[in-house]
Amino acid sequence: MSDRLPGFSTLAVHAGAQPDPTTGARATPIYQTTSFVFNDADHAASLFGLQSFGNIYTRIGNPTNAVLEERVAALEGGTAALAVASGHAAQVVVMQQLLQPGDEFVAARKLYGGSINQFSQSFKSFGWNVVWADPDDIASFERAVTPRTKAIFVESIANPGGSITDIEAISTVARKAGVPLIVDNTLATPYLIKPIDHGADIVVHSLTKFLGGHGNSIGGVIVDAGTFDWSKDGKYPMLSEPRPEYHGIKLHETFGNFAFAIACRVLGLRDLGPALSPFNAFLILTGIETLPLRMQKHCDNAKAIAEFLSGHSAVASVSYAGLASDKYNQLARKYSPKGAGAVFTFSLKGGYDAGVSLVSKLTLFSHLANVGDTRSLVIHPASTTHSQLDDAAKVRSGAGPDVVRLSIGIEDKEDLIADLEQALGA
Ligand SMILES: *Cc1c(COP(=O)(O)O)cnc(C)c1O
Repeated sequence: MSDRLPGFSTLAVHAGAQPDPTTGARATPIYQTTSFVFNDADHAASLFGLQSFGNIYTRIGNPTNAVLEERVAALEGGTAALAVASGHAAQVVVMQQLLQPGDEFVAARKLYGGSINQFSQSFKSFGWNVVWADPDDIASFERAVTPRTKAIFVESIANPGGSITDIEAISTVARKAGVPLIVDNTLATPYLIKPIDHGADIVVHSLTKFLGGHGNSIGGVIVDAGTFDWSKDGKYPMLSEPRPEYHGIKLHETFGNFAFAIACRVLGLRDLGPALSPFNAFLILTGIETLPLRMQKHCDNAKAIAEFLSGHSAVASVSYAGLASDKYNQLARKYSPKGAGAVFTFSLKGGYDAGVSLVSKLTLFSHLANVGDTRSLVIHPASTTHSQLDDAAKVRSGAGPDVVRLSIGIEDKEDLIADLEQALGA
């Protein structure tokens, strides 16, 4: 063995996986079992007391899921990860460890529409209060921080407009406020951006999108950067205080730089219950093996299509950070030099009606509410994902009535351009 550290593509294929010790199976098997037999009574007791690591019950952990967790942790450069049932489950489990009722977190206003709903509606019923800030105005994050703030949440590449977030500037605000920075890295994936290198303390993903990559499985993951001191000021009692159900151990004191991932598993998954099916973990692992190849093709196709749309007479504007003229191009060059992702928006001169008409005329693009599939996808946010917002909020989150969102797939770009040409022209 050489001392070389494996590169990203090697990790995408190998990290976390070994030939199955019992059968020699080379692909990671699907351990489709609910529970695992203990060696003896002492072994059982030590697993339940967190004195040793091992499998108990698939709600809390599973060997197929464990390979996925190790692989994503390696790709993101974190200390540990936890796979969960969806991207939204990842967000709930993270916040459960950080917030007590009455606490606050600051979130960028430009987010996936489902996250805006989850934060402003469902989280309110847990007593967790979101305070919105503008990712284009770093000072707005500072102004939003109060003594009850427990976290800051942003997307690296933000839905739906594909804008690029200045993660380092916001991590400086988080550091000053003494709270962790959580980055949703779904649209970038670690192939394009590694938020931990820029100061993120926690990374979350919807595995449903580019990581799984084939539009066949819902999943989520939480990555612990191992960078945050959970015990310094008593703000995070889930991590710093004795846990009665685990013989009074303190998770941070016991597990150090992967305590957050442990808390998400032994408190979050255990009690909230959003476990990922091992079958989905298998499909997502298979997807991740080709992540670097797919992501580059997604980005190259997206750039070609953004350029085509910029020159089309029916198009009012294109918002793609990979275009030299875009307002986020400087940030894209800094944070995402291999490409600016594959999800972006453009606006039509014909407004709302033109948006509705376009989605009905496209044939190769699928009209649906998802991103990050091998297939190219289209949606008109104002009549679908963002329809619950009032007009001003739609515009603020980049989903005005004339806006169409594309998620560019890995087909031949000439075919995608021909489909757009016929739908725009007709
Ligand atoms: C889809 C998505 C989510 C939610 O993930 P699910 O797997 O659908 O629960 C969160 N953030 C972003 C950026 C997403 O695209």
